[in-house]
Amino acid sequence: MGDVMLIIGSHVSFNKDEQMIKSIKEALSYGSNAFMFYTGAPQNTLRVPLDFSLMVKAHDLLNENNIDISNVIVHAPYIINLANFENFDFNVNFLKNEIERCEFLGIKKLVLHPGSHVKNGVDVGLKSIVDTLNTVLTKNMKVKICLEMMAGKGSELGTNFNEMKYIIDNVKHNENIMICFDTCHMHDQGYDMSDFNSVLDEFDKVIGIDKLACIHINDSKNERGIKKDRHENIGFGCVGFDNLINIIYNPRIQSIPKILETPWIKGEKDSYPPYKFEIEEIKNKKFDSDVINKIINYYGR
Ligand code: FE
Ligand code: FE
Ligand code: ZN
Repeated sequence: MGDVMLIIGSHVSFNKDEQMIKSIKEALSYGSNAFMFYTGAPQNTLRVPLDFSLMVKAHDLLNENNIDISNVIVHAPYIINLANFENFDFNVNFLKNEIERCEFLGIKKLVLHPGSHVKNGVDVGLKSIVDTLNTVLTKNMKVKICLEMMAGKGSELGTNFNEMKYIIDNVKHNENIMICFDTCHMHDQGYDMSDFNSVLDEFDKVIGIDKLACIHINDSKNERGIKKDRHENIGFGCVGFDNLINIIYNPRIQSIPKILETPWIKGEKDSYPPYKFEIEEIKNKKFDSDVINKIINYYGR
């Protein structure tokens, strides 16, 4: 049996001056061969103009480091809420622009939270998501919209495979829709992540395993089913290190990029990214109970 090819990375930053080059450099500093970024602040929709020569240089850098562009992911800002029909025009416009930005950068996967129905109810919320996607998605687009499985906090939609199936079934150009798992969200929603093969079986039965585009790898601060969405560093939460390792190395999803969104570590003066160390633990398949100190020592001096 050959070695399982691991596609692993984390959320990284993106800035005005270096743009995707900044993201790649950060990803490489963590030992990643995949990464995810927001094209601006996740909590607002202000976006800087993208630069052509920086984009070309970024692709050279990806090639030099053997990073496949299909393992590079953009996350749409989480404040847009497709389930709110009152924001329909704004959502359509923003999503169109975000897809154009991805196409300009050569990105093939755009992760999107489906949205929250707020007071309008599940059916109205899902209908609003479907209407927005039907207005935005076109036959020849090059970007896949990757709807993220949500924890079920508040009135979040897209918390189970049937809701996702409803969206897929009702969108005309649904060849452009894929699904993004999140181990924290799914555990918080109630899925048993210690029995990941059964989760995959159910997904395959309802939607089809070929629709899986990406997996966010996070531990959870809370017990299963609690619907909170509080990410924890790997091995320190209620999903647990061994279950996360079994998911990451599951041969059925070998080719799917695994992206860490675990919290930064608070030191005395600053916060530090855990990803270089967590990726090392994942590569070694060995939990390091002293990892927090090691991160603070590494970045804090
Ligand atoms: Fe997300
Ligand atoms: Fe996520
Ligand atoms: Zn989350």
